[in-house]
Amino acid sequence: MSLAQDLPLSSPAVGPRHDWTRAEVRALFELPFPELMFRAAQVHRAHFDPTEVQISTLLSIKTGGCPEDCAYCPQSAQYDTGVKAEKLMSVDAVLAEARAAKAAGASRFCMGAARRSPKERDIENVCAMVEGVKALGLETCATLGMLEADQARRLKASGLDYYNHNLDTSPEFYGAIITTRTYQDRLDTLDHVRKAGIHVCCGGIVGMGESLDDRVGMIATLAALPVHPESVPINMLVQVAGTPLAGEAKLDPLDFVRTIAVARITMPASVVRLSAGREDMSEECQALCFLAGANSIFYGPKLLTTPNPGRDRDRTLLDKLGLRPME
Ligand code: SF4
Repeated sequence: MSLAQDLPLSSPAVGPRHDWTRAEVRALFELPFPELMFRAAQVHRAHFDPTEVQISTLLSIKTGGCPEDCAYCPQSAQYDTGVKAEKLMSVDAVLAEARAAKAAGASRFCMGAARRSPKERDIENVCAMVEGVKALGLETCATLGMLEADQARRLKASGLDYYNHNLDTSPEFYGAIITTRTYQDRLDTLDHVRKAGIHVCCGGIVGMGESLDDRVGMIATLAALPVHPESVPINMLVQVAGTPLAGEAKLDPLDFVRTIAVARITMPASVVRLSAGREDMSEECQALCFLAGANSIFYGPKLLTTPNPGRDRDRTLLDKLGLRPME
């Protein structure tokens, strides 16, 4: 029997494990595909209704002009991608978008600002946005870059439910993707968010030229956090002309499905989001991701600055698969 077949699965009775070794995570990645999918589906069913998908909408509340150098990002001011720097949106304009997202079926409204870290006036405005969005009956999420402890506490006091801050990749590959902030900076922000009592949304991106070991390292790092992120977005790189990663060799879609399945097994109680990259993904690949345990998507035609499937297309796909929005 292989190492992976011996691995203890988490169960609701036992609770999630936080001691996954890299060897164990790698052994999961290397399972025969049917075995991996079966195990992921078992874990998914033990913790969630596999016919339910959580629906989030993501709005860029401050686009472009970011000083960071994330090699995948069209909003970095360091790359010529045609994305224009804009000011922070007004509270009223954000609330109008939130109302439209709710009417279209979203249960969570995520607000993203292209910033290294939020300025004082950003925090004041985002707190007002959070209060307004919550009053509409939506869950709130923000992603504003690195946070200090007091900024996290202020966002929590305004009612923020989730803060997104991705680890992006493994600690070893990280320096090939971002040089303007460290992996530890990211872990520190996650710690501030957790200590403030805000739910953590944290995942990564695959298809950036990383190795299997890097995908293993990313999942192992996420699964070793003291508390698993409540939400784990797994993104397929969307290549944008002008960014350093444009032209990178495409990842085999089955390796993407494997990454979802391993995230599901190692972080069993987390909502795993099939995140960026769906625009270029076949229905069959997305269906495999749902079978592998993905249970959240972003809904709406745009993800910050890159395209996402239109709502009609997603509604058709969810109907075909017999999936329904999570309450
Ligand atoms: S910090 Fe965010 S907005 Fe800025 S370059 Fe990196 S990913 Fe893009």
